[in-house]
Amino acid sequence: MLSIIHNISLKPFHTFHTEVTAEHFTQFQSVDDSKELIHLPLFKNTSHLILGGGSNILFTGNVKGLVALNKISGITILAENEKFMQVEIGAGENWHDVVLWSIEKNLGGIENLSLIPGSAGAAPIQNIGAYGVELKEVFVSAEILLTETGEIKKISKEECQFGYRDSIFKRELKNKCIILKITLALTKNPVFRLEYTALADALKSVTTHDLSLKKISDTICHIRTSKLPNPEVTGNAGSFFKNPEISQEKYQQISNDFPSVVAYNSGKGKKLAAGWLIEQCGWKGYRKGDAGVHDRQALVLVNYGKATGAEIINLALEIKDSVRKKFGIELEMEVNVID
Ligand SMILES: Cc1cc2nc3c(=O)[nH]c(=O)nc-3n(C[C@H](O)[C@H](O)[C@H](O)COP(=O)(O)OP(=O)(O)OC[C@H]3O[C@@H](n4cnc5c(N)ncnc54)[C@H](O)[C@@H]3O)c2cc1C
Repeated sequence: MLSIIHNISLKPFHTFHTEVTAEHFTQFQSVDDSKELIHLPLFKNTSHLILGGGSNILFTGNVKGLVALNKISGITILAENEKFMQVEIGAGENWHDVVLWSIEKNLGGIENLSLIPGSAGAAPIQNIGAYGVELKEVFVSAEILLTETGEIKKISKEECQFGYRDSIFKRELKNKCIILKITLALTKNPVFRLEYTALADALKSVTTHDLSLKKISDTICHIRTSKLPNPEVTGNAGSFFKNPEISQEKYQQISNDFPSVVAYNSGKGKKLAAGWLIEQCGWKGYRKGDAGVHDRQALVLVNYGKATGAEIINLALEIKDSVRKKFGIELEMEVNVID
């Protein structure tokens, strides 16, 4: 039977580490638990939130209703042929542990996604991506529980409608399902993905012979720890905003005015580095009380200790406002803001 705790601090359960409480809190460890969860009167009659590693969330205040922490574990090999291994992963597994497991088995495909905090179950929600790779490239399907009907169904990669930091779970299925398990197809003949400049530069002295999944993963871990604040030391949720995608015309206009603009090709248009836009507005290293903008990566908002969610969201709104005024670009938040 699921046990419910009341008025619990959520500080240890999310990476911004702001001091907020949940009115009711529980953990579920299996598919059966999740079925029990959705039939609880507390789940049906109050608002509820499924929580993974809390690494992509900003709570603006105390949470009313029920917070349910997903702890469904297990990694199972479903099928294999000479090229691929299909692996089913419990949604509560720690994502980086899954990456380390794949490397140990010499299975390629997710090594560039090393050290992304959070749970495997949340990975498809924003189609996690880093160092030139996105989850969708290895994703096969997810097993989900529809919370209104109690139906458990498989949702395919196509049905997930993956986009840049986007999927159906952020739109039509938002707050309507619990992701229970995900299935990935990992390759037995890894092709190393080194197109991302910072990664290629860091590995340029490594010979082809010495290149391995582990070497790539270790290198990415090293780059990430040197660039991003460790949430256990300084609260944060990684990139606070998405990199905006703009038309070629808009890009021409911005690059005429700001020749040093940092941009990448993206479909028919360009993707601008949101961190660069924020930096140009003078926010890098800014601090007001304990809420601030990281001094090495302007895309990361930080809690230096006692910042409240409200202070962080106010800072985010000021940043959005200044980017709109200077560049005419509307930044979109990547972090899930829970009011
Ligand atoms: C230092 C740092 C670096 C980061 N770097 C990257 C990066 O390089 N690339 C990247 O893409 N992201 C990055 N992130 C963001 C974050 O790690 C990912 O978005 C991650 O997938 C979030 O997982 P989580 O389990 O912590 O989700 P949570 O924060 O717990 O939840 C996020 C959202 O998903 C919902 N949710 C969670 N689990 C489930 C479930 N099982 N079923 C239904 N809904 C669910 C929650 O209700 C919430 O709305 C970074 C974050 C930090 C702190």
